[in-house]
Amino acid sequence: MKRYDAVFLHPPAIYDFRERPTFPGPIAYTVTESTEQFIIPPIGMLSIAEYLDRHGYRVVVENIGERMVQDKNFDVEGHIKGIEGSVYAIDLHWCVHAQGAIELAKLCKRLHPDSVIVLGGLTATRFHEEIIRKYEFVDVVIRGEAEKTFLELMNALDRGQKNMSVGNATLRVNGRPVVGPSAAPSESIDEFDFTRLDLLVPKSILFSKSRPPYCAHWSIPVCRGCVENCVTCGGSAYACARLLGRSRPSFRRPERIMEDLERLAEQGVKAVFLFQDPRMGGKRYWESLLSTLRKNGLPIDHLTLELFRPADAEYVKALAGLGVSVTLTISPESGVDHVRMAHGRNYTNAELIKTIEVCQENRVPLLVFFMLALAEDNYDTVKETWKLWEKICMMDQEARSEEYPITVNYGFGPMILLDPGSLAFDNPSSYGYRMLSNTLEGHIKQMEQPSWHQWINYETKYLRRDEIAKLILDTVEYSISLREKYGIYDRTTAFVEKFCYVDLSRLIMKEVDKIAELKDEKEKDTRLRLLQDKVREYFTKLGERAHAL
Ligand code: SF4
Repeated sequence: MKRYDAVFLHPPAIYDFRERPTFPGPIAYTVTESTEQFIIPPIGMLSIAEYLDRHGYRVVVENIGERMVQDKNFDVEGHIKGIEGSVYAIDLHWCVHAQGAIELAKLCKRLHPDSVIVLGGLTATRFHEEIIRKYEFVDVVIRGEAEKTFLELMNALDRGQKNMSVGNATLRVNGRPVVGPSAAPSESIDEFDFTRLDLLVPKSILFSKSRPPYCAHWSIPVCRGCVENCVTCGGSAYACARLLGRSRPSFRRPERIMEDLERLAEQGVKAVFLFQDPRMGGKRYWESLLSTLRKNGLPIDHLTLELFRPADAEYVKALAGLGVSVTLTISPESGVDHVRMAHGRNYTNAELIKTIEVCQENRVPLLVFFMLALAEDNYDTVKETWKLWEKICMMDQEARSEEYPITVNYGFGPMILLDPGSLAFDNPSSYGYRMLSNTLEGHIKQMEQPSWHQWINYETKYLRRDEIAKLILDTVEYSISLREKYGIYDRTTAFVEKFCYVDLSRLIMKEVDKIAELKDEKEKDTRLRLLQDKVREYFTKLGERAHAL
């Protein structure tokens, strides 16, 4: 049996997704790599594991979500039983993992009753007291930044202290939550390491060559924290102040980022997503970062960076001169200025178009990302957003050439969950939202519903949940047609995607809503399973049909 001091586990979104009838609808359309089980672990998990490893603890980061998705016969119970640890730590960073994280925690406690079960991440931080109060198999919630707290926790356990007072830890004493003192966030994130992929198993998804970017890839941060306040974001300036106690971002020194890239390259990584916008650190910071990268020569083939605001020619030109292929992403979320601004993104379509032009002039591909439905969205604003997509497609078509095949592209995703701890989650009515769940337990119940449209955790002042779901499917349908029109999809792809993500999703939604009305739980279950079998049958037939097209 393998023996560790701390075993870190990344859960699937829904622990028993292989047994219970689940209809993820268009979610899989927008998160192809991560899958609808969201199997990419948060990078903070690696930095915590590395911090413990550095201090002499034996650690491993087990991606249970990936194992379960990759192998439908993977025996979770047998696998976890075979990993002996003093501590099992499960990430509950993104709310979508609420059910998966809690179920995995329960399993770890059942299989290893003498171990300490820890939960951490932004969502766990937002619900720390509720977790300790309601889920007796969770011993500790680490709030906010976890590297140092985790080390303190391990040291305290080594000393035999179970009811220790550790900064940033919430634990149970005599059946009640005891909230340990808040610890100040780290002054500098230079002391952490986000690149120890050797601690992570498995990692076939990161090294897969079968989907974009078609090579080994990983993400590293420019900084921790944000200066922006997008209202539904759990990593905004507001949320970081409340959940991490962080009043301003901590930027990684350019030399440290260079070292990160070198370390990743040594491990075979060729494409890196350098997330958070370096311009938040000011001109002196981003100039120093880019000149460090240029001077040393990038050891990877591809770099992706984020734009939190429109970019000018000076910045894009500097990126274009890095000597490797660079892609930029920007997320205006809506194609309508007032909808975007109410969401916390203060720029106009005119500024966005200018950014696209600047990127095209400098031959830096740009992905423009949209999300729906936002607080100020209605059918008319969404149609305006569609128009902007068509404009983006036209701009791309005009600028494309053989050496520069994609100049600008758009992408979009359904919002589904407002982040716990965000401005809108904490003050929904002030931002045009209405929460359908505001407890962790409520989210777990929602995520245990069979269909994606029942997972949406909010409504807006203009749209009910069923209207949001309809709008999402109409938008997927429009997007598929647009991609076919502009040659991004061929006829077969458009046909298959429309059938899978739109037509079938509409039928499933209707049927699931009918089944939800039934009183008899057994009958409900039987009908849902029948529906799932039917859907699988359709998929098989569709595969045959698509081949014939
Ligand atoms: S979504 Fe907005 S608030 Fe959140 S990290 Fe990105 S820019 Fe910052």
